[in-house]
Amino acid sequence: MVLTKVKNEMICKNLERGDGGELLFAGRSVIQLAKKYGTPLYVYDEERIREKCRAYLQAVKEGFGDSSEVMYASKAASFKRLYEIMREEGMGIDVVSRGEIYAASMADFPLERAYFHSNNKTDEDIRYAIERGVGHFVVDNAEELHAIDAIVSEYGKKQKVLLRITPGIDPHTYAAVATGKVDSKFGSAIETGQAMEITSLALSLDNIELEGFHCHVGSQLFDEDVYLMTSSVMLEFIADVKDTIGYMTKALDIGGGFGVRYIASQPELDIRKTVLAIADFMKRKASELGIGLPKISFEPGRSIVADAALTAYTVGTVKRIPGYKSYVSVDGGMTDNPRYALYGAPYTIIPCIDKGEDTEAYSVVGRCCESGDILQENVPLPKSIGRGDIIACLTSGAYHYSMASNYNKIPRPPIVMINEKEDYVAVRRETVEDLLALDV
Ligand SMILES: *Cc1c(COP(=O)(O)O)cnc(C)c1O
Repeated sequence: MVLTKVKNEMICKNLERGDGGELLFAGRSVIQLAKKYGTPLYVYDEERIREKCRAYLQAVKEGFGDSSEVMYASKAASFKRLYEIMREEGMGIDVVSRGEIYAASMADFPLERAYFHSNNKTDEDIRYAIERGVGHFVVDNAEELHAIDAIVSEYGKKQKVLLRITPGIDPHTYAAVATGKVDSKFGSAIETGQAMEITSLALSLDNIELEGFHCHVGSQLFDEDVYLMTSSVMLEFIADVKDTIGYMTKALDIGGGFGVRYIASQPELDIRKTVLAIADFMKRKASELGIGLPKISFEPGRSIVADAALTAYTVGTVKRIPGYKSYVSVDGGMTDNPRYALYGAPYTIIPCIDKGEDTEAYSVVGRCCESGDILQENVPLPKSIGRGDIIACLTSGAYHYSMASNYNKIPRPPIVMINEKEDYVAVRRETVEDLLALDV
């Protein structure tokens, strides 16, 4: 097979152009997959997911030793097959709801390797997680700590917890995903003294076993310095806790947030290099502070799955408004990818056949009755694009399926996984009957 020269639209190594300019994803024709399974269609490259898990695990073990862990933040994409892959790869997971706990347990995921997050765990959530044996709770605030202590006492157990600390770092990223600042719905702040207070409180409660601390400052970060700053603040806090109340921290989770490449101008993050740089820095910082480095964990979500998937759409109406814009409408939209509508997220959208024609800039829009239903503006697509053509939105593995909705009673697309041997349905296409399954 003759491959045409790699264009800058080929933003991940699992993408290439085959004969006739046909788009190949992990070696498979996207057009053939679209024909076989219909569109819109989420296609995941299983090998890419596994490769990312291994890259993190190897780097984290090398940098921080064998006790360190990598927790996949499963809100990025949560379905049974993915939890099975995480189990097979030896990953831990983050869960944030009963639904995620249930899905993981249905994949036989060992829940003692799960961290239960959320800034508002209900009593029901807390019971459910205790009964299912979730290993650690990441506790957001003092009120929640009291609630967990009271509930866990009914079970005659102790619950291991990490406390979510707000280090006060603004990662200079989208405001909507910046969570490390003091004014945040997440965590207890160091600056206000609440972090120290909740630490003392945790140590005083009979049914709580304090393992350590957690922080997560933002998402889609490319700058290593954010992690160095964050870990520096956290290690100083840990040293302060030791001096002030004599508590030795056993575990520190430094969150996720590693950036991925949505468009050619963004870099591809070198996982190994980044993790090892953080490890070097933290070892030095810990020895300066005269403390041992606790057990370290990371929680990447997006960077495990984002570039392991694309979404294939079929083009419908193409509308040219003279003197204004040209629109390409597709058979999906904000229901399967709300990220542009939510925060103007950039994407690369490309034709599944590229015959080298001249292009024109289009707004690629969805099919919902909502003018904000836009996938991307100014997308270069062939001038001849028309009804029935297949286009692909790249880097769509994270926060797409997991954020999908049924707005306008539109069924959600299926998830097809591909690996070296086969392609298979991991999540089937929702039907219109499914949409009424809850109506009584
Ligand atoms: C969302 C989230 C993550 C994962 O963030 P990514 O940007 O997807 O890597 C990790 N930890 C916590 C607490 C989160 O809320």
